[in-house]
Amino acid sequence: TPRIFSGIQPSGGLTLGNYLGALKRFAEKQNEGIQTIYCLVDMHAITVWQDPAKLRQQTREGAAAFIASGVDPARSILFNQSQVSAHAELAWIFNCVARLGWMNRMTQFKDKAGKNAEAASLGLYAYPALMAADIMAYHATHVPVGEDQKQHLELTRDIATKFNHDYGVDFFPIVEPLIEGAATRVMSLRDGTKKMSKSDPSDQSRINLTDDADAIAAKIRKAKTDPEPLPDSLDGLKDRPEARNLVNIYAALAGMTAAEVIAEHAGAQFGTFKPRLADLAVSVMAPITTEMNRLMQDPAEIDRILGEGADRAEAIARPILTQVYDIVGMIRSR
Ligand code: ATP
Ligand code: MG
Repeated sequence: TPRIFSGIQPSGGLTLGNYLGALKRFAEKQNEGIQTIYCLVDMHAITVWQDPAKLRQQTREGAAAFIASGVDPARSILFNQSQVSAHAELAWIFNCVARLGWMNRMTQFKDKAGKNAEAASLGLYAYPALMAADIMAYHATHVPVGEDQKQHLELTRDIATKFNHDYGVDFFPIVEPLIEGAATRVMSLRDGTKKMSKSDPSDQSRINLTDDADAIAAKIRKAKTDPEPLPDSLDGLKDRPEARNLVNIYAALAGMTAAEVIAEHAGAQFGTFKPRLADLAVSVMAPITTEMNRLMQDPAEIDRILGEGADRAEAIARPILTQVYDIVGMIRSR
């Protein structure tokens, strides 16, 4: 039976990229009636420094964003990673399965470590093995993610395959990434070749789920573009990364394809298209922001939801971990 797992790091305020590439689709999968397990991956977040008070705040805000986006904690399992120790336990075993050569090829590590990789944490390097553990601790079969996570999911498949092979078992499923829709890679508003990220130092590069209507309109108005009007076919967006990004964002927000957006707005100048996009973005985002703010009024209730989700997650992961220890040859005598 299919089972979905996915996560988001509480490493900052969530962005429109996280909403379109992840949250919105998490709710859709839940509504298709598939078992869905969603996680605020706080252990991933600390692979780069997080202020403890902010980490707590961002974890609660992240949970509020899931719920405001349509993830129902009664129908999906919603929790924070560190409350279920199976993630850390399986990650250690996967650290011993994954090969250094595999980890060395991970582009996210290179992007995040930057020029001074010697100063990056060991956790940042091992990140993809923990991510494999997140997924495999539940025997999840499908993982909805943005395009940037494709390489990590291939590594998850490699780790599962090698574990099964090394121990002569058919134990871990080979997971399928679900990278779908018009906004699998929302780009920065300042640079159409860079992914929009919550950890980007420039706030102008992204739309935050907490931005109000004025901030959203101002950021879209100032978004980098070229001087040409919108083309009359998709082909005309080739070599125009900023224009393509705004068209893709419009498409994802409106539930249209990029081709339909082009057909509707062919020949429009950005002076006309940007205000249309801003109105659309505000109409989609404002109810989510309002609901997030309402939920954030009661942090104790959010913590209760995360704790209950962790109990339900634990109930699935613990028997799987017990089997893993047995397969590996570790004595469990108490
Ligand atoms: P960070 O900069 O801290 O890595 P992030 O914005 O990349 O933050 P993550 O928590 O790493 O967010 O990713 C959570 C989910 O959001 C993943 O499924 C990821 O693929 C997706 N995602 C992140 N950024 C984008 C984007 N720009 N477009 C589409 N999906 C995205
Ligand atoms: Mg990321």
